[in-house]
Amino acid sequence: MSKPKILMQLDGDAHASVFDAVVAIDAGVDHLLQYHGVGVDNVRELVHGAMFTRGPQDLQQTAIFIGGSNVAAGERLLKEITRCFFASLRVSVLLDANGANTTAAAAVLAARQCVDLSRSQVTVLAGTGPVGQRAARLLAGEGATVRIASRSLGKAREACDAVRLAVASGRVEPVQTADAAETLAAIDGSQAVIAAGAAGVELLSDATRRGSNGLQALIDLNAVPPVGITGVDPLDKGKNRDGVLCYGAIGIGGTKMKIHRAAIRKLFESNDQVLDAEQVYALGRDILGS
Ligand code: NAP
Repeated sequence: MSKPKILMQLDGDAHASVFDAVVAIDAGVDHLLQYHGVGVDNVRELVHGAMFTRGPQDLQQTAIFIGGSNVAAGERLLKEITRCFFASLRVSVLLDANGANTTAAAAVLAARQCVDLSRSQVTVLAGTGPVGQRAARLLAGEGATVRIASRSLGKAREACDAVRLAVASGRVEPVQTADAAETLAAIDGSQAVIAAGAAGVELLSDATRRGSNGLQALIDLNAVPPVGITGVDPLDKGKNRDGVLCYGAIGIGGTKMKIHRAAIRKLFESNDQVLDAEQVYALGRDILGS
């Protein structure tokens, strides 16, 4: 008989995320071990506890989830955790700090349902944050031409460099969106726009959007008023608005939650998986059968 499924939830914040805990339980985890304040300096002992307690044949029944609000810290934790593993002594790990991987995957899957990404140009507004950068990376992996937009051209360039490191063949270009005219130039000619700006920040006004050519899909990840793309309702899920398919943050949220639960379940299929943006995205494609 197989051992109960144990998920170790590692979180750098003062309290381990309740949201992540609920998803883990809903995904069928038997025992959830929650740790807060976890960083690269204190994670090793926790990982050893997961690796060395059960025999090798039962290691796939133990897994690690990396959460927390700081995505860069989560990435550092992932590196440190995988450094602890050796030979077959390892457990599977999922990185979804701040929901960045599952949210980016759901956003790109929405775009994929609307346009042929390999033949499209997609602008990621505020593409410098953790969600935007991951969305850009996934889009580049799909063969899209990606414009990463930022109020600062320098930040956009840095984000493009990071995407090229992850996707060597990626076609990415930086664009500055410090005002409405630059925002119009950034989206003009793009088939899809993903708005990945901070909560409560309008990135694209109705007037600017109506000035652009070629738009087929608008995806907004910000649910907090004012929304990122004026005219897209947070509940929109493929809603046709004047010939443009629209997705709002809550409309995307259903797919994001399905991907999150599927990723937790996937962890217990073997003990050697590392689920980051690309692996999480692949799971989303499986879920949507695309
Ligand atoms: P973030 O890091 O907070 O912000 C992303 C970018 O927004 C920043 O890099 C910045 O780009 C731009 N920005 C920040 N303040 C701005 C301002 N006042 N005016 C214009 N631009 C501004 O965002 P994130 O964590 O990547 O998340 C992106 C979006 O996804 C957020 O709206 C978040 O709420 C949503 N989200 C949803 C879920 C979910 O479960 N549904 C999960 C995670 C995230 P520049 O400085 O380069 O211009």
